[in-house]
Amino acid sequence: MKMVHDNLLRVGLGIALVIFMLIGGIFYWTTNGMKQTNRMVEQTQEVLESLSVFLTGIHKGESAARGFVMSGKADHLEIYRDSVSEVQKAIQNLERLVANNPRQKARLEAIKSAVHKKNEFSKRKIQLRQSSGRESAIDFFLTGQDHTLMNTIRSLVSEMKAEEITLLQQRQAQAEYDAQRSLYILITGFTLGFAILLSVYYYLNREIILRTEAEAEAVRLNRDLERRVKERTSELADVNKQLEERNREVEHANRMKSEFLASMSHELRTPLNAIIGFSDLLAEESAGPLSDKQRRFINHVSAGARHLMQLINDVLDVSKIEAGRIELNKTDFAVAEATLEVVSLITPLAESKGIRVDNTIQSNLNVHADRIRFKQIFYNLLNNALKFTQEKGMVRIDAFDERDFVRFCVSDTGIGIPPEELHEIFDEFHQVGGTTKNVNQGTGLGLTITKRLVELHGGRIWAESKLDCGSQFNFTIPVVPVA
Ligand code: ADP
Repeated sequence: MKMVHDNLLRVGLGIALVIFMLIGGIFYWTTNGMKQTNRMVEQTQEVLESLSVFLTGIHKGESAARGFVMSGKADHLEIYRDSVSEVQKAIQNLERLVANNPRQKARLEAIKSAVHKKNEFSKRKIQLRQSSGRESAIDFFLTGQDHTLMNTIRSLVSEMKAEEITLLQQRQAQAEYDAQRSLYILITGFTLGFAILLSVYYYLNREIILRTEAEAEAVRLNRDLERRVKERTSELADVNKQLEERNREVEHANRMKSEFLASMSHELRTPLNAIIGFSDLLAEESAGPLSDKQRRFINHVSAGARHLMQLINDVLDVSKIEAGRIELNKTDFAVAEATLEVVSLITPLAESKGIRVDNTIQSNLNVHADRIRFKQIFYNLLNNALKFTQEKGMVRIDAFDERDFVRFCVSDTGIGIPPEELHEIFDEFHQVGGTTKNVNQGTGLGLTITKRLVELHGGRIWAESKLDCGSQFNFTIPVVPVA
């Protein structure tokens, strides 16, 4: 819409400019025409004036010649000569003035020849008066030749005057017509140009008002926005302060929790070790023979104590990691060797369940990690794979070189994990109830510890699984130290 307005304004201004330029052109053209017509009118008037000068000269010469014939006085001769030169001058003037008009030119030629003849006649008349006396000169004059020539000249002069007057009238009429037409064009042009300029002014004015209003609105909105930003910023600062406060509180609570867990675990481990040790001694019957019932009871005590010990150790690990108290002792080592050690640890369990363990890890792969923690990660995943795979199943270990990382994959043909729980299994104490209910349960902290250890190394861990078909746990460990 704004572009259409701008274009309209441009077109309007353009048309107005063209109209004013046209008016200027027409004005110039009309003025020129009028100047020319004036010149021509002046020229016509000059012709008429020269013709009367000419006729006066002729008449003056005629009466001077006649005076000389009658009186014989030299004064008349003087006047006669003056008149001849005046007539000549008038003819020269007329020649110049009618040079562009062939009809007038032809008439002037005829006048010139009549004047020439008349001059010859007058000369002869004067000579006769001087040589033969008055009577002879009068006789020559009475021949009437002079009269005829005079009539011819008069009629030619009248024709010339008539033509000049007609021309004058025509030119004046033309000039008047031109002036009238120019006036009409000027009035129309001015009215049109003025109307367009007025419209342009109206549009511009409206546009300026609209823009001023829009600018005022923008300024108002800006101020509003600034005010709101300020309010929000101060609100955010308050919230930030509160958050910092909360964070400090949470950190403090976490520290307290970790410290509590660490000291509690420590306190619990001593009596637990005693329970495990003494129940083992009792089970070995070193303190005397046991009945079947007593043996069953002591086995329950031992298994429960071991489970509790595992739980305490795991809780301690988690709290240590959370408190940032785990120091990684990173070195470069061959993964094949480390995994072999872990595999040998879980072999008895695999054999007891008739599960085949395929290890495809190449001997040339190295990682940069804490060897003990790396083995712990591997052990947890392998232990789970064996735990959740039925007898005669299969477990497979692979490693892939992925430039900056080595990706390890522990897969099994076990019970699998429902897709909606794939992410939650890494949460603390999360155990898949439906699928693991028949399996000897662990602490629910193994995967939490594993994930945190992997992330401490700068790697990541994820699981893929299909229910009743098996699971696949992938994790990455850097090859070189990470920044
Ligand atoms: P747990 O000590 O119970 O094994 P984990 O943290 O190691 O605790 O595992 C959490 C849960 O994830 C397990 O209880 C089990 O339900 C599920 N899970 C872990 N590994 C597997 C696997 N290989 N196959 C099927 N389920 C698994």
